[in-house]
Parts: sequence; structure tokens; C-alpha cells
Amino acid sequence: MNTKEAIVIGLGISGCSAARLLAESGYTVTCFEGESHIGGSLFEEIRPNGIRVQTHGPSVFHTDSEKVYQFIKRFGAFFPYNHRVFLSYQNKMVPLPLNANSLQVIFGNRQADALLSRLSAAFPGIKRISADRLIDSHDAKLIDLGRFIIENILTQSINRKDGSSFIPADDSYMNDAFVDIGNDDCYYTDSIQAMPMQGFMSIMENMVDHQAISVYLNTDALSRISLHQDSTTILFDGVPFKGPIIYTPSIDKLFDYRFGALPYRTGKVSFQDIQTDFQNECAVLLTPKSKDTIRITESKYMTLQDISGNTSLMLESPYTESSKGMGEPFEPVVNADSMKLYSKYADLAKAYPSLHLLGRIACFRNYSISESIEQAIGTVSGF
Ligand SMILES: Cc1cc2nc3c(=O)[nH]c(=O)nc-3n(C[C@H](O)[C@H](O)[C@H](O)COP(=O)(O)OP(=O)(O)OC[C@H]3O[C@@H](n4cnc5c(N)ncnc54)[C@H](O)[C@@H]3O)c2cc1C
Repeated sequence: MNTKEAIVIGLGISGCSAARLLAESGYTVTCFEGESHIGGSLFEEIRPNGIRVQTHGPSVFHTDSEKVYQFIKRFGAFFPYNHRVFLSYQNKMVPLPLNANSLQVIFGNRQADALLSRLSAAFPGIKRISADRLIDSHDAKLIDLGRFIIENILTQSINRKDGSSFIPADDSYMNDAFVDIGNDDCYYTDSIQAMPMQGFMSIMENMVDHQAISVYLNTDALSRISLHQDSTTILFDGVPFKGPIIYTPSIDKLFDYRFGALPYRTGKVSFQDIQTDFQNECAVLLTPKSKDTIRITESKYMTLQDISGNTSLMLESPYTESSKGMGEPFEPVVNADSMKLYSKYADLAKAYPSLHLLGRIACFRNYSISESIEQAIGTVSGF
């Protein structure tokens, strides 16, 4: 009889990966998910016109890790996908991150050539240079370019509260903070960039489809899990649980917000179904100067679905701050104060040997899909 028991809390990509890896290591795995469905940040829906949309924002699989790719591919086929993101700037379509083509569209050929020469001279051998490095350079024209990126792309409407931190935290915006000296319009530079043929939900459903895995939806795990007074033991239905407990939600709630609530960002998404083949020229269009919509995603570019005469747009509103589970947490608000607060909770968590924090919400780090899986592989292989 199997005596190895494990619990997984939250079934986003981190929890689903961990559950599967635990099951394959001989554990019987009990999973709790607060929502009526698995998926977390990668949840998808089918629109009435049949188009599959990512409910929380565009998410692309990209990695340099062959190990991660081999793992995720076991749960569904992928097709190669080069993500393209454009900025809507003064009625012009500008590829992001900014590259040689973008500089020509914005500044004209002569100025673009001059900027590219200055970039190569100031940053020899570097392909992508971040806005903060441009600002720290001693070249006035490059400093201006860095400021241009901040003011016209990484505006407050995306996720900057003040001028002190302008590298966006959300992985899906990260590349917007760079200028690329080449003329390739690809958003990511990773060696592997791909999308699941049947979507991420199908991948995650296949991950938890294992005889050793039980899934309880609509279940707040904290109604079953509690902390013992000894400050080292975790109770499952009131009984000490010795096996690994993988925890992926925000950690402040587990400790009853003892030091205060951790800050996250959340966003609202709405959809428009349109009767045309394609509405925009690319998968993602950034409209950072708009008050209501920061990003428009045309999902059909990312799903490879063969549906003619119909398309769906996803419109994202500017991010707002959330805490105590108000709104779906998209990403941690990382700054000196929040990191100090997080480390107090992380120290408390360390006292519980069976507790393992996993993923971007529990670890308060902006992990990508690939990094979430890599962390799950590393954690479970340590048991
Ligand atoms: C808008 C957006 C765009 C992104 N774009 C990309 C991209 O292009 N490429 C990329 O690689 N990454 C991207 N990311 C990051 C990537 O999506 C995340 O790193 C990953 O999906 C996080 O998975 P997770 O399982 O760690 O967390 P989550 O997906 O947040 O899962 C946590 C789960 O815990 C559940 N839960 C919460 N509280 C409880 C409770 N008390 N009891 C039980 N269950 C609970 C939640 O319902 C949720 O299902 C993006 C993220 C966002 C938000």
C-alpha cells in the first residue's frame, strides 16, 4: 500500500506540475483549488465564436530549458510560435521591444542609424539593452532614448507607480523595457518559443489526470489546512500532516495576515467578438496612452485555430493594486517595503518543514511559465 502522501494547494501551472511530479514519484496527492476550475493565471475560455482566449492576459511559453520543454510536451503537442507585440504610437505600428525597424518608424532613417551606431559603441556585443542601462550611459542621445521608452511604453498605466522603478514586473511586459540592435521583430529571444495546440488548460488537465491525484475544486485549502500551536506542524483536518505540502497562493493569508497584507497587482479583462477574419496586424498591440485599455490581444494569432470570418479581441484595463485576495493576484508588487514584508512571512514558513512554497504568488517573484515548472521540478526532486 502507498504510504507516501502529499498535498498541493492551488492548481495553476506550478501546482499542476508539482502534483504530477509527486504522483510519478510514488506519492498519493490530494489537491485543493479554490476556484471552480484549475488553471490559475493560465485559465482559458472558449468564446461563443469558438475562439480560445486566455482569460487573464496573453501568455506565451518561452524557455531556454530543454528539460522544461520535454516535461511540458508530455502533456500535449506544441507548435512553434514567434510572439509579435506592437506599440501603437502616433498612429504608427512600432515593433516591441524597440529594434532597428522601430527606430526607423519613430525617428526616421538617419536618426535611427545614428542611434544604432551609438548603441553599438556604448554597448559592444550586447543585443538587447534595457532602458535603465540607457539612462545610466554617458551618451545624451541614449539617455533620451531610455526616457522615451519609459515615457511612451512603460507608462504608469502599465504598472509603474512612480519613476523609481521602471522595469515592469510582469514577465509579459519585461521585453518592453529594452531596445534591440537587430531588426528581428520577435518579442522573446529564448531558444524555444511555442504554444500548446489545444491550449494551456488541456496541458494542465492532462497533468492532473493521474490515478494517484485527487482534485477538490471550489475548496479553500485553508478550510482543511491549519497551523498547529507548536509553530512547526501543519494540520490536515486537525491531524498533523507529515508529507510535503506544496503551497502556491499568497502566503500572508496562511499566517492570518499577521504582519499585514502583501501587495499584488490585478487587472480587468473584457472581450469583443468581431465578424471578420483578423482585426489587428499582430497578436498583441500595446496602447499605453489610452486610459481604459493598455493592451489588445487578438487570440487567434496565438491559437492556430482555423476559424474564418470571426475573431475575438481581449482588452486589458490598467493594473490596479490588490491585497487580501481582492481580485485575482496577477503579479507581486516588488519593492523594498514589500520584499521586507514578504521575507517576514518567508521566515515564518521556514519553521514548517513540510511546507514548500511554489510559484509567482507564493514566492513573490515574477516567474514565467517555464520558471514555475523548473521550480516545481527542482522542489519535488529534492524529496
Ligand atoms: C497577465 C499575465 C501574463 C503573463 N504572460 C506570461 C507569458 O507570456 N509567458 C510566461 O512564461 N509567463 C507569463 N505570465 C506568468 C505565468 O502565467 C505565471 O508565472 C504562472 O501562470 C503562475 O502559475 P502559478 O501556478 O504559480 O500561480 P497561479 O496561476 O496564480 O495559481 C495559483 C492557484 O491557487 C489558487 N488558490 C488561491 N488561493 C487558494 C486557496 N486558499 N485554496 C486553494 N486554492 C487557492 C488560485 O485559484 C490559482 O488557481 C503571465 C502572467 C500574467 C498574470
